[in-house]
Amino acid sequence: MKTYQMLINGEWVNALSGEFFDDLNPYTGELYAHVAKGDKKDADRAMSAAYKAREPWSSMPPIERSRILFKAAQLLEENKQEYAEVLVNEGGGAIGKVMFEVVQTVDLLQTAAGDCKCILGETFHSDPGKISMTMLSPKGTVVAISPWNFPLILSMYKVAYALATGNTVVLKPASETPVIGLKIGELFEKAGLMPGALNILTGPGKVLGDALIGDHRCSLVTLTGETGTGRHVAMKAAENLKEYILELGGKNPLIILEDADIDFAVNAAAFGTFLHQGQVCMAVGRIIIAQEKSEEFSVKLAEKAASLSKGDPTLHNTVVGPLINDNQVKKVDALVRDAVAKGAKLLQGGRYEGRVYDPTVLMDVRPDMEIYYEETFGPIASIIPVKNEKEALDVANDTVYGLVAGVITKDNHKALYLAEGLEAGMVHINDTSIDVDASCPFGGYKRSGRGREGGRYSIEEYSEVKWVTIQKKEKIFPF
Ligand code: NAD
Repeated sequence: MKTYQMLINGEWVNALSGEFFDDLNPYTGELYAHVAKGDKKDADRAMSAAYKAREPWSSMPPIERSRILFKAAQLLEENKQEYAEVLVNEGGGAIGKVMFEVVQTVDLLQTAAGDCKCILGETFHSDPGKISMTMLSPKGTVVAISPWNFPLILSMYKVAYALATGNTVVLKPASETPVIGLKIGELFEKAGLMPGALNILTGPGKVLGDALIGDHRCSLVTLTGETGTGRHVAMKAAENLKEYILELGGKNPLIILEDADIDFAVNAAAFGTFLHQGQVCMAVGRIIIAQEKSEEFSVKLAEKAASLSKGDPTLHNTVVGPLINDNQVKKVDALVRDAVAKGAKLLQGGRYEGRVYDPTVLMDVRPDMEIYYEETFGPIASIIPVKNEKEALDVANDTVYGLVAGVITKDNHKALYLAEGLEAGMVHINDTSIDVDASCPFGGYKRSGRGREGGRYSIEEYSEVKWVTIQKKEKIFPF
């Protein structure tokens, strides 16, 4: 068992209070690490350090910033195993999930490194007497707050692009997965990042969040987390006139039309529903399927769910590991019980041992069941048969969320009809709902958030736009 300190101004330090909190292994329930428990005073120290580093970091040539990000990518690639082990031990991710996360994070760092030299302005030809253009400059000091479910890549989306665009950062990782956040600090330290450009603060979300967002030196807050947390962060940001990016929850539909290949659809639904025990913002939350195929599909999905290895995430064949904590187990089980009590057919699962919930398949899920609308964050497939693509679209949009959707059909017209009509920030045709690409816009409609992350979309979010003009000849004023 190790003890971890926070990173402030290039130094590894205890909290000023001297307090620590427990970081538990979700599978064994054992103590994994003791982690410094920061509070308001530590938030102030971290903001001071980040504020002081703004000028030297933002004035560094983009090629130098790029070299540091590339170096971080290289170091992460060389030390994949070490990072994967942390993700398994404190996050409960199965080995396949965590390796996928590490490899995607290397790609993200490389993409952000390349983008350091693509921070582009525009020129306008509206007035021949002057050169009129935009210049981008960093926002300043970014407060980044990240969740526990994909803690490495989701922290890095914020850290990599905030640094690439010349901002300095205070990162507050989730209290369930603080060590992976601190390892991001270690990675950049080894990559040669200057002190203060990235600070990592661990401790309770509300205390640190309120202190960081309320600090006059914070320019922008970026959160990935629950919609309820997003609402609180947005209100705090508004109170302090701060800008914010929010990546929040989802109840994502996978629409399967009558012409779909059912075996392919079963694989897409299983991956989208059961990856990381369903604890994925992009997880398939509702399977909306053409009535005539729903019987065959549900039987095959139940067989597939029963065949998945579950249990110890350190074993190489495990697909479904533990849920993050006991509260999550209780919440998932209550949703399943409520659905069954109201008439859903339990085709598979519905049981748990410790924190490992069986991959579960529910047929005929209806709007009066809580699971129809609630983000589940558990390995539960909810099947909703529909008559046609029009009804599929109505059901898909019948949610407060709007993160992502998958559509499976061989009919391009129907696929495009759905892509246009779906109220979601991302639509993947002939795929499941889970996909990431560091260059593409990641984000949602409705209560799934505001703003987009990835590639040039992150550059825009993390930059201020300045309109600059140069007169070509002396201007004549009317008086
Ligand atoms: P969470 O909202 O509980 O916590 C997220 C982060 O916010 C943590 O670091 C936490 O400490 C901090 N926090 C908590 N209360 C806060 C407050 N009052 N002020 C400021 N910060 C606070 O979310 P979680 O349980 O870690 O993650 C799961 C949720 O995140 C799910 O709803 C999931 O859908 C969502 N999520 C969204 C995306 C996306 O990109 N849209 C990606 C992953 C997860």
